[in-house]
Amino acid sequence: MILDGRPVAQKTLDGVRAGVTRLREATGVQPKLAVVLVGDFAPSKIYVASKIRTTESVGIASEDHLFPGGLTQDALIKLLHSLSDDASVHGILLQLPLPTGLDESAAIDAIAPNKDVDGLHPVNMGRLLAGATGMVPCTPAGCLEILDHYGAALRGAEAVVIGRSRLVGKPLAQLLLARHATVTTCHTRTRDLGAHTRRADVLCVAAGRARVITGDMVKAGAFVIDVGINRLETGKLAGDVDFESVSAKANVTPVPGGVGPMTIAMLMRNTLLTAERQIARS
Ligand code: NAD
Repeated sequence: MILDGRPVAQKTLDGVRAGVTRLREATGVQPKLAVVLVGDFAPSKIYVASKIRTTESVGIASEDHLFPGGLTQDALIKLLHSLSDDASVHGILLQLPLPTGLDESAAIDAIAPNKDVDGLHPVNMGRLLAGATGMVPCTPAGCLEILDHYGAALRGAEAVVIGRSRLVGKPLAQLLLARHATVTTCHTRTRDLGAHTRRADVLCVAAGRARVITGDMVKAGAFVIDVGINRLETGKLAGDVDFESVSAKANVTPVPGGVGPMTIAMLMRNTLLTAERQIARS
């Protein structure tokens, strides 16, 4: 089975659009996402443009703060504080990575946790660890949606996550654990990666290395989620999974068209959620 992310993303976006309409009818409030982009890193510009387009398509307003020429750390923190205090802004998206010289952790800390649509603030990370309601990072949340949509059994399953980043690997491992999988996290110092991946019923790969997982490393019938996006020398995009050999024996997400569309869809869902929660509290 090819685990196509596009129909799952469409279903999620349809749900968000309906939710935005319901919220507007009930309260007169339109959810608003503030988008902050510092620098002119080409992939970030493409992601941000796509996120802004998608907000419009589901009825969410966007307020764009684009600084192609850069911004000082102080000015960035000031901006994030003022967006955090602005009652008309429900969600804040700070596009990462930040240009060299800017402190990413300090910037994330400056975002109000209840507006942190990327779920990267330590408060939201802590809530995830505690099993409490917070904001779940978009990419890991999208991976779970794909697994659920295509009927992967998670309870008691052997789940292996490759990668331990704050953005993907760590929160993804927590989400799988919360769904009662037996989770192993692998990383660059893991000995004999294949010994772990071959026993995985669910294998999630977020290494950022093109084709690090090949067909001989996966179990037949496994569910394989390829998070990686790598630009090859030819200019083509490739995932972290060798699609040809892995799709011959397992269920796998394509790149592009797998996790990518889900990340944006979950960002929209998180923005609607932050708006609903803020309105309920006001
Ligand atoms: P990262 O570089 O922060 O982390 C990579 C992790 O993989 C590290 O923990 C490292 O230990 C591990 N790793 C690297 N090489 C390995 C190897 N050979 N064997 C075992 N472990 C290895 O990257 P990230 O931010 O977590 O992103 C991972 C990938 O996912 C990147 O390709 C990124 O572009 C992609 N990504 C995609 C989306 C999406 O929407 N599809 C979103 C975020 C990230």
